[in-house]
Amino acid sequence: MTKQLKTYTLHNYKSIPQIANLSDEMIEAIEVVGRVLPFKTNNYVIDELIDWTQIDDDPIFTLTFPRKGMLEKKHYNAVKKLLDQGADQATLNKKVHEIRMELNPNPAGQEHNVPEMNNIKLKGVQHKYSETVLFFPSQGQTCHAYCSFCFRWPQFSGMSNLKFAMKETSLLAQYLLRNNRVTDVLFTGGDPMTMSTQVLASYINVLLRSEFRNIHTIRIGTKALSYWPYRFTKDKDSKELLKLFEQIIKAGKNLAIQAHFNHPAELKTFEVQHAIKQIRATGAQIRTQSPLLKNINDKPEIWAEMWRKQVDLGCIPYYMFVARDTGSKRYFELPLDKCWDIFRKAYRQVSGLCRTVRGPSMSCEPGKIQVLGVQEVKGEKVYVLRFLQGRNAKWVDIPFFAKYDPEATWFDQLEPAFGEEKFFFEKGRKKPKANEILFE
Ligand SMILES: *Cc1c(COP(=O)(O)O)cnc(C)c1O
Ligand code: SF4
Repeated sequence: MTKQLKTYTLHNYKSIPQIANLSDEMIEAIEVVGRVLPFKTNNYVIDELIDWTQIDDDPIFTLTFPRKGMLEKKHYNAVKKLLDQGADQATLNKKVHEIRMELNPNPAGQEHNVPEMNNIKLKGVQHKYSETVLFFPSQGQTCHAYCSFCFRWPQFSGMSNLKFAMKETSLLAQYLLRNNRVTDVLFTGGDPMTMSTQVLASYINVLLRSEFRNIHTIRIGTKALSYWPYRFTKDKDSKELLKLFEQIIKAGKNLAIQAHFNHPAELKTFEVQHAIKQIRATGAQIRTQSPLLKNINDKPEIWAEMWRKQVDLGCIPYYMFVARDTGSKRYFELPLDKCWDIFRKAYRQVSGLCRTVRGPSMSCEPGKIQVLGVQEVKGEKVYVLRFLQGRNAKWVDIPFFAKYDPEATWFDQLEPAFGEEKFFFEKGRKKPKANEILFE
C-alpha cells in the first residue's frame, strides 16, 4: 500500500480544501511572500501536522506557509504593488531577484568550503572540518516541503549558480582517498531522502568498498521523518531503503540519520513513530537537530518536550542552532541571550539522556560557536563562547568572551570583551580565500 505524495506550491495551493477558511489577509501574504521565498508543502503536512483550528499561531503552518511578517514591509509592499498592477512576469522577476539578493542568500561564506582537486572545483562537496565532508548529491537538492526559514533557499528558488551539487561520486571518491583524515561523509541537500533508493544506493555503495575503510560513519541529513515519514514505510521503494541501511551497517559502518525536527507536533503522529522504529530496527541511529525559531519553538517547554519525546522514541538530541542570517531571519531571529535562556531553561528540566544536545550554536565562517552563557567578569557583562567546531581544530573548546550586547542575534554583531581588539582566533589570521582549505 503506497502513499501518494501530493505537493502544493504557489500554483496549486488553492486546491487545498482547508485553504478556503483562511482570511483574505493570509491569502494575500501567501501570494506576496511566496513569490520571494520558496513555498512548497504537501498532503502529509496538511492532513497530519497542521492544526487548522488554530491557524493564527500554528507552528507547523508557520513552518511551511508564507506569512506576512516574513518579508520586510518595504519588500512586501513592493511585490504587492506589482501584483496589484498586474505587472508582467519580467518586471516581477526582476524585483523578486533584487529582493532575494538583499536577503544574504549565501550566508557563512559557504563558498570557502568548496574544495579544489587538480584545479577542478568539487561543486557538490563542502569540507570545512577535517573529519567530516558534506556531500550534496545533485538529485537530492530539493525537499518534500520547504521550511520558511531555510538557509538553503537559493537552491530551491532557481538561483542555481549558488547550488552546491555534484553529478557523480567519482570525484568525491578520489577526494576522500586523498584526504584520509575524513571519517564522516554527510549526505545533505536539500534532503537526500527525496532521492529514490536506487540513486541513493549508487552514491553510498561506492563508500562501502574496502578502500574507504577510513570512512567510519555515513550520515544522512533529512527532514523526511517530519515532512514525509512514508519515505521509510509506504513509498514504493521504502523496503529497499531500509535494506540499504542494513547493508551499510553490515559493511561495518555507523549510519547516523540526522533528523531535523522543529517542534514536538512533528513527533506525535503514528506515521513518524512507525518510521523511527523501522529505521532503528536497521541498526541506524537517529540524531536530531533544529534551529531555535521565534514564532515556532521559542519556549523552553517546547524544547524540553521535544527532547523527551525524541529520547522516548530512541533518538539522540544533537544540536540546537541559532537561526541563520539569511532569508526571512527577521521573522525568526532571537537575541543570543534569549537563545541561551531558552536553552538552559529547557536543558535543566530534562534527564541526562536528553543532555546530549549542544547549543545554542551558530554555524559561522570560522566555525560552530556555542553560546555558553552570559556572565559578569570583573564588572563587565560578557558572553562566554566556545568553538564546537573550528576551521582550525586548535580553536575548539577554548572559552572566549564577547562584549554583552542585548540585541545581537549573530556572531558577527559581537565584539571582543575587555577592550581587546580581536578575538583570540583572529590574531594573525587571514580569512581563507575562496576554495582555500587549511587544516592545521
Ligand atoms: C555542522 C557541520 C558539520 C558536522 O559537524 P559535527 O559537529 O561533526 O556534527 C560538518 N560540516 C559543516 C560545514 C558543518 O556546518
Ligand atoms: S528541510 Fe532543510 S533544506 Fe529542506 S527546506 Fe527545510 S531547512 Fe531547508
